[in-house]
Amino acid sequence: MEFAFSTVPQLVCAPGAITRAAEFAQRRLLKRVLVVADPGVERAGLLRPLLDSLHGAGLTTSVFTEVVPDPGEDIVTRAYQQARTFGAQMVVGLGGGSSMDVAKLAAYFADSSETLRQIIGVEQAKGRRLPLVLVPTTAGTGSEVTPIAIVTLNDQTKGGVVSHLLLPDLAILDANLTLSLPPAVTAHTGLDAMVHAIEAYTSKLRKNPVSDALATRALQLLNDNIRPAFHDGGNVTARSNMLLGACLAGMAFANAPVAAVHALAYPLGGIFHLSHGLSNAIVLTEVLRFNRSAAERLYADLGRQLCAGTQCNAKSDAAACDHLFGLLDDLVVELQVDTRLGTYGISHNDLDRLAEDALKQQRLLVNNPREVTFADARAIYERRLIA
Ligand SMILES: [Zn+2]
Repeated sequence: MEFAFSTVPQLVCAPGAITRAAEFAQRRLLKRVLVVADPGVERAGLLRPLLDSLHGAGLTTSVFTEVVPDPGEDIVTRAYQQARTFGAQMVVGLGGGSSMDVAKLAAYFADSSETLRQIIGVEQAKGRRLPLVLVPTTAGTGSEVTPIAIVTLNDQTKGGVVSHLLLPDLAILDANLTLSLPPAVTAHTGLDAMVHAIEAYTSKLRKNPVSDALATRALQLLNDNIRPAFHDGGNVTARSNMLLGACLAGMAFANAPVAAVHALAYPLGGIFHLSHGLSNAIVLTEVLRFNRSAAERLYADLGRQLCAGTQCNAKSDAAACDHLFGLLDDLVVELQVDTRLGTYGISHNDLDRLAEDALKQQRLLVNNPREVTFADARAIYERRLIA
């Protein structure tokens, strides 16, 4: 058995751990910190404990809060220009996947001269980046432990930069920052994290024993805690477990990449601006059912894992696989996610473009257990129009 695995050098998980960013800077004698966030994070007051601790440690900060969902090339450019102008010596990204992804690229381009287009793809970046700390405020993307930044390109397709240079030096999991997440965001981001675990476990090319161990533990943590976190956002234990689950799933898929669920989700975000988590939730079970002929045994592993301790006695692979799919179908209903594309103004006329854009995500589709053709992708979207 041969495989490679990498993750962040340092992870801190504790309510209130946000103050560790200042300690990180002090140990390295860094004085000027660019903080990357979005306006929602700022409005929710989540920047305050970070900025207070940075200022308390004698550091100077510049705050970039222009991050929007599905950030485009212009946002990335403005962020790294601010880093350069300010003379940033390190970057802290605080927020959901978009903020952390922009922070990664700002830290990179603050110290490297390539263009964004030049580093899109896998391990194309040749430069260096500033020291980088990432702090998620949702339990979803796992971006704090992945070497990936997703940018919406000017033609509205998603470009992915995958480079070991984008893995941060430190990831901070502070559940206090997630207590005020609204239920819908908790649901969508949590389902995204569950998709990461499932797709990592069934990833075709680079699945390995470490990613398997992380993915199965992640799925269990997420499944056990997503309902409590959804129904009672102030439950710190559930919130901590969600953050940890999303982080473990991120570590898994950083090494055993996600596949067709994500490939089919991206066009829903790129063209129709559905959130990443919602987009994934919409296509999730349709894609898993499509993959079943190639991955039933693996789905059965996950189904058995999730029914451990219950009355379920799924002895055959088919029964265990049914258990997983049934659990996910029920979960989407309990979390009040509307998976009908029609609800979001998407119609038959959009199916060709959606399928075309999904097929552009070959970076992801090569990891899928079953080959996806244009007709397959179109049929999956079609089943979600009203179903
Ligand atoms: Zn995702």
